[in-house]
Amino acid sequence: MSMFVDQARIHIEAGRGGDGCVSFHREKYVAAGGPDGGDGGKGGNIVFVADDHDSSLISFRYKRKYVAENGQNGAAKRCTGKSAPDLVIKVPRGTVIREAETNRVMADISGDEPVILAKGGRGGKGNQHFATSTRQVPRFAKPGYEGEKFDVILELKLLADVGLVGFPNVGKSTLISVVSAAKPKIANYHFTTLEPVLGVVKFDDERSFVMADIPGLIEGAAAGAGLGHAFLRHVERCRLIVHVLDVSGCEDRDPIEDFEKINKELHDFSEDLSQCPQIVAANKSDIASEEQIERLRSYITEKGMPFFVISAAAAQGTKPLIDEIAKTLETLPPVKRFEAEAVPEPLPEDSKRFEIVVDENGVYQVDAPFMEPIMRTINPDDWSSLQYFERVLRSSGIIDKLEQMGAKEGVTVSINGYEFDYVD
Ligand code: GDP
Ligand code: MG
Repeated sequence: MSMFVDQARIHIEAGRGGDGCVSFHREKYVAAGGPDGGDGGKGGNIVFVADDHDSSLISFRYKRKYVAENGQNGAAKRCTGKSAPDLVIKVPRGTVIREAETNRVMADISGDEPVILAKGGRGGKGNQHFATSTRQVPRFAKPGYEGEKFDVILELKLLADVGLVGFPNVGKSTLISVVSAAKPKIANYHFTTLEPVLGVVKFDDERSFVMADIPGLIEGAAAGAGLGHAFLRHVERCRLIVHVLDVSGCEDRDPIEDFEKINKELHDFSEDLSQCPQIVAANKSDIASEEQIERLRSYITEKGMPFFVISAAAAQGTKPLIDEIAKTLETLPPVKRFEAEAVPEPLPEDSKRFEIVVDENGVYQVDAPFMEPIMRTINPDDWSSLQYFERVLRSSGIIDKLEQMGAKEGVTVSINGYEFDYVD
C-alpha cells in the first residue's frame, strides 16, 4: 500500500555566479595588452511548476536536496562564463511552499506560471571592466554572488471548488464516482480513501466545477488523532462543503450526531472552515425509512441549510444536488490563493554591526569593528585575498548599504580608517 504524502521538507539551493576573470590581452610583438578578463556566468535558479499528473509529494520524501548548477567562471579574451540552467522542480498543483525558518508563505503553485523560489547568483565582473585612466592594470576581478538557499516545507492544499466531507462509509466516493469521471475505490469498509480524489463535474455544456473526495474524517481528527487531521487542510481551500450523511444509520450511527461531530472537527481545525457554506446530502435514502429522512430533514432545515435526499449508489437525487452546488458556487468567491509573504527584516547580528556616514569630503566612512582583524590580513595585491575581502563586505551587508546610500564608482570608502576606491 502506498502512503499518501501531502507534506515534505526539502532543501533548495540556487547556483553561485561564476567568478570574473583576471587576464591581460596578449599578442605577439605587443608589449602590454589591456585587461580582457570576462565576466562569470549566472548561477541556476530553482524554479517550481505545477504538475497535473502527480497528486502526491511522495517523491520529496526520497530526494530532499535540490541544488542548481553554478555559473561558469569568466575567461580570457572577454569570454563570459556560461550561465547555468534553471533547476525545475515539479509539484502537484495546489502545493503551498513555506520557508521552514520563518514559516512565511513563499509561493502557492496553483497557476501555470513557473515560480522562481531561489535566485541564482550573478556572475562577478571580469577585470576588463576595471581599467581607468589611473588604474591601467587592474589585477582584480569580482567573485560571483552566492545563490539563494532555503529549507522549505511543501504542503499540498488541493484546489477544489467543493469538498465532500463525512464519516467513513457514508458514500462520498460513490457520490463523486456517479457525478464525475473520477473513479475512486469504493468498498464497504472504513478508510478506503487514503488519497484525496478530484473529479470534474460538468453541469451543462460549458460549465464545470471540481469536487474533492476527502478521506474520511474521524472523531478527534482536529486534535491529531488518526488519519483525518492532515486531510482537513485539503478542505481549507474549498469554496463549498457538501456534508454527506448516512440517513439510514445502517452502521448503527446517528446522522445527527455525525453531523455535529464533523462540524466540531471543522471548527476546531479552523474558524474559516467552520464559516464555509455547507449543503447537506442525506445519502442511502434507498434503505432509509420515511421517519429517518424527515427527522434529519427537519433538523438540518431548522439550521437553515440546504438539504438534499439522495441515493448515490442508485444515482438518485444527484441532479438537483449538483444544480444547487453549481448555483451556490456562482455566488461564492473564487478558490483561495495564498499570497507570498514578505521576508521579515533580519535583525543585525550584534557581532556584524556597522555604521556608515558620509563625511564633509564625500568619503563614505564605515565603522565596522568586526572587520578589524580582516583588514589587517588583507593583501591588496593578492587576487584571492581581495575576493575574500569582497565576499565579507557583501555578506555583512556593507556593500548593500553603500549602494543604498548612493555610493558610485570612484568614490572613496574608508573602512575603519583604511581607504579604498569604490569599484561598482
Ligand atoms: P465513503 O467511505 O464515504 O467514500 O463511502 P463509499 O462511497 O466507499 O461507500 C461505502 C459503502 O456504502 C459502499 O459499500 C457503497 O456501495 C455503499 N453505498 C454508497 N452509497 C449508497 C447508497 O446510496 N445506498 C446504499 N444502500 N449503499 C450505498
Ligand atoms: Mg471513500
